[in-house]
Amino acid sequence: MRSFKADLHIHSCLSPCGELEMSPRAIVEKSLEMGLDLISVCDHNSAENVGSVMRAGIQKGLAVLAGMEISSREEVHSLAFFDTEEQALQLQEIIYRHLKGTNRPELFGDQVVANEYDEVEGFNDRLLIGAVQLGLDEIVNTVHLLGGLSIASHVDRPSFSIMSQLGFLPDGIDLDAVELSRHTSREKARTSIPGIERFCQVSFSDAHVPEDIASACTYFMIEAPSIGELRLALRNQDGRRVLDNNRIRKSILRNCDELSERDRITHT
Ligand SMILES: [Zn+2]
Ligand SMILES: [Zn+2]
Repeated sequence: MRSFKADLHIHSCLSPCGELEMSPRAIVEKSLEMGLDLISVCDHNSAENVGSVMRAGIQKGLAVLAGMEISSREEVHSLAFFDTEEQALQLQEIIYRHLKGTNRPELFGDQVVANEYDEVEGFNDRLLIGAVQLGLDEIVNTVHLLGGLSIASHVDRPSFSIMSQLGFLPDGIDLDAVELSRHTSREKARTSIPGIERFCQVSFSDAHVPEDIASACTYFMIEAPSIGELRLALRNQDGRRVLDNNRIRKSILRNCDELSERDRITHT
């Protein structure tokens, strides 16, 4: 068993708010430069760049899990993680059935599908920044049925979080963990979010630009970079555990929070 430095919340150029320079190879190269052992790309409501980042990771020797950041009917963001691209694409199929609207690149940004050589393969024209017509609990259950892990995104943030949208951590919700953003600490979260101690807490960067990759990360003591091992670590079982959350305050504040305002303007 060994420690894995993980940043599992990175947006690629497929996210409307992700910079074009967040291409599959660039993400992998920057992650290695930052000393990460394990990453995942979580684009908004889509997994179309997941396979490219995974293949770029294999080429360069970096472990990459399949991921997605889903926006629920309540506009709560949550992260889904899987071992394989196929599982993420199965989730994508369900998500796309419940996602309405067309992207407006001039307003929200381009949604670039790229291959593992950083060649542009096309543009996704769905409204990926939109909310999916599925409740948070339905999304959590669907992710579990597909064999994945479900983690509530940036629970301390003033928009698109459980706390901003629901105001509390619901009793029966079957989350595997909650993510604290790079803007808070465990100590602060404990005083400001009632009931948070019920959940394992992790921190990832939510990077939308290369400079932010690894600006927050979590160390896992696990045997291998797999969903099964991470699940054990999040439950503190069989010697697997979450060692520490690390964050660097200095970062470029450029993420979905900014887009929320633009999004609201268009919908009103
Ligand atoms: Zn988010
Ligand atoms: Zn995000």
